[in-house]
Amino acid sequence: MAKIDELIIEKIMDAAKIEEVISDCLGTYSRDNPHGLKKCGVRYKALCPFHDDKSMGSFIVYPKGNCYKCFSCGAKGGVIEFLMEHEKLSYPDALRWLGKKYSIPVDDVPVNWTYTPKPAPPPLPTLELPMSMVLRTQYAATPENDNLIRWIGEANKWDSVQRKRIPLSLADYHVGHSKKGHTIFWQIDEAGRVRTGKMMKYYPPGHAKYGHRDQDSSWNFDFIHSVLSKHWDPELREFTDEPPYPYPNIYNPDKQEARLTFFGMHLTQQYRRATIKLVESEKTAVLMSIAYGNNQQDLWIACGGLEMITRERLKPLIDQGRHIILYPDRDGVEKWKAKMAAINYDRMSIDTDPVLKWWRPEDGPKADIADVVLRMINNSKPLTNIDDVADKMPNVKPLIDKLDLEIDQ
Ligand SMILES: [Zn+2]
Repeated sequence: MAKIDELIIEKIMDAAKIEEVISDCLGTYSRDNPHGLKKCGVRYKALCPFHDDKSMGSFIVYPKGNCYKCFSCGAKGGVIEFLMEHEKLSYPDALRWLGKKYSIPVDDVPVNWTYTPKPAPPPLPTLELPMSMVLRTQYAATPENDNLIRWIGEANKWDSVQRKRIPLSLADYHVGHSKKGHTIFWQIDEAGRVRTGKMMKYYPPGHAKYGHRDQDSSWNFDFIHSVLSKHWDPELREFTDEPPYPYPNIYNPDKQEARLTFFGMHLTQQYRRATIKLVESEKTAVLMSIAYGNNQQDLWIACGGLEMITRERLKPLIDQGRHIILYPDRDGVEKWKAKMAAINYDRMSIDTDPVLKWWRPEDGPKADIADVVLRMINNSKPLTNIDDVADKMPNVKPLIDKLDLEIDQ
């Protein structure tokens, strides 16, 4: 095959703009094209085309650096990498694609090139946020608008021992709350360094999906590091990425890189002998710790998405020789098995019993271990409050009402 001239490659790389290439492939964001590219200040965003992305915030396109990066799955690169990954082009074909777009003839020139990838810039230091920021969201913030915390706190899910564990578990995991009602799942690593936090909204009481992720309201998902790099534009009434950053001393994305870790990772330091039980969602990890409570023995941590499970992120656990058990969602069993095979760590196993053996249709087709376990707790718990008694024994209800009965605990 003919080689492509070095000079032509240079010309193409000079002309090619990452935001133009990606918007050619994904289209522009609109109501009809939710997967398109959306301008946000000096950057662009889209649902990540390289993993099963459900809400915007992870995949950022940087015109200044002519590159893109996904903070969830780690996909990153420039125009060439995007075309090779997304359009499944070879390297020369990616150049031809760009040559055509930018009217630079590629193959009719005397050629002599060998592929020399650009030397990667030295990696930026990992962002570390102050612990005081975590504590503020945990204790100074008021959780009234945090729908998930309300849902978790509702007594009818738990027996009396579990109920007492709720505040302890929330404190252990450093679950925080934003003023706008997000639940904040801080990501603190095995050395206690605060990497970032994931902010998510949940549906309010009365909603059919109360207790589940809010997929409808605006600004229902974000990362703390992303918020720190934006400022509020009062005219647009939205966050923009326009510098100067409001917190340049805490986070400047040109100087530090936010690297994600697992939710609950900091607890591995405290509970050194515990088996690591890895689930997908942060909410599930918290619920399971409330349900079982024995962190010394079983420590629940959340990866936040299958694509987050990489050998690199597991390294601190593998180095310690930890036993790791994976708990997939019911609809993710096969993918998690494949992931486990790819990781190839001999102390890792998968437990599908909760979502296959213990599962009942009322848990839902996408149930995870918490859905199943909570249903089981609910079916087996002793009747410790009068509403439960009334619920289970309708014939006794008139008597309860008449005598205004209570259970003496
Ligand atoms: Zn991604």
